[in-house]
Amino acid sequence: MAQAKYTTHLGMVDILPDEIRKWHYLENLIHEEAAKFNFEEIRTPIMEQTELIVRGLGQLSDIVSKEIFSFSRGEDNYVLRPELTAPVVRAYIQNHLDQRGGSQKLYYMGPMFRAERPQKGRQRQFHQFGLEVLGSSDAVADVEIIAFMIHICDKIGIKNTTLKLNSIGNPESRNSYKEALKTHLKPNFEKMSEVSQKRFEKNPLRILDSKEEEDQPFIESAPVITDFLSDESFSHYNKVKEYLADLEIPFEEDPYLVRGMDYYTETAFELISPDLGAQDALAGGGRYDLLVEEIGGQPTPAVGFAAGMERLFIACEELGIELGSEKKVDVYIVTLGEAARKWGVAQLPKIREKGLSATMDYKGRSMKAQMKDANRENAQFAIIVGENELNEGKFTFRDMKESEEELLTMDDIIKNLSVI
Ligand code: AMP
Repeated sequence: MAQAKYTTHLGMVDILPDEIRKWHYLENLIHEEAAKFNFEEIRTPIMEQTELIVRGLGQLSDIVSKEIFSFSRGEDNYVLRPELTAPVVRAYIQNHLDQRGGSQKLYYMGPMFRAERPQKGRQRQFHQFGLEVLGSSDAVADVEIIAFMIHICDKIGIKNTTLKLNSIGNPESRNSYKEALKTHLKPNFEKMSEVSQKRFEKNPLRILDSKEEEDQPFIESAPVITDFLSDESFSHYNKVKEYLADLEIPFEEDPYLVRGMDYYTETAFELISPDLGAQDALAGGGRYDLLVEEIGGQPTPAVGFAAGMERLFIACEELGIELGSEKKVDVYIVTLGEAARKWGVAQLPKIREKGLSATMDYKGRSMKAQMKDANRENAQFAIIVGENELNEGKFTFRDMKESEEELLTMDDIIKNLSVI
């Protein structure tokens, strides 16, 4: 095979027809289940203003400092969206969604872009689905979205996940915690990894995320953020845990769980799968009670999560779960000669009208090649038509799986097809 002259960019992949059925399956599942949870879909543009993402996620976040795809055109600075929480909040403010009344319960799916170093489970264009609840500070909202995330995994058959839970409190408690963390780490500064040393001044919480071996002893002995929570944060966190227990959703408290974006407050969580390798997070989220105000709206408490769709597929592969039905077509019309072809084209809509899929050869191939093609297409039935059949008004109706056939009028064939 000749090498392609043009290829996709690094970390960006085509989703080919052979893979599309699992995507359709997952997308349909999300639409159906989101409707049951009474969430409504929102679709925002692929590009946003750079300033929105910088402001929303934080200048020092990994995404903003090294992973955004941005470019300018004229006076405008564009960024390919790296995530959808900030864009959804932008849409909420811009379109006055608060005026609709109640909490806005929104969900989305689509491609996101981050210029990360590609590896298994990490692409530069990848897909997320996520839920956002705007306008509720109630722990019920936190728990409902966690329940949704786990419900989707359950439906697919991914049951061996771990829900990690933490509360990172409000900015005041987080600041006191940051100081305590720095005091704890300072005596060992020289022994810490280079990345952690870099994070020490500007973003010490991210040191807790470090996977570097030399950092682990200092992380394990670090103070925990939950000791710094205000009474209000503490009671919210307890409510979340209580409701999760009521729903019998198991969780592991991880006082060192911090999330990558600056906008998080209070509840933080991640869903981890042992089947993913190094990139083991299926989904992550939390509260972002200050973000709406941060980007120009009225103070509005909110909570959300995003899940990686490719990562769900990787977990499925590891677990031997096949999503989506196999490729098939209900009826393949096999024709011999021009008159039969003309007849065949006219029958296709009649079959499709019955809610079935139907196709025929598009290349004028021999009958043998058409039968081979019908098998390749995994046709359930074939209607075989030549000159004799046309003259007699009866056609060979072949059950491809059973290898049985009979001569029938088209009316009878349609009747037979109606009951499959
Ligand atoms: P985040 O928006 O960083 O909280 O990520 C939420 C989820 O999106 C993660 O748990 C992953 O499942 C998925 N994800 C994030 N970044 C990538 C990436 N570069 N490639 C594939 N999936 C990703």
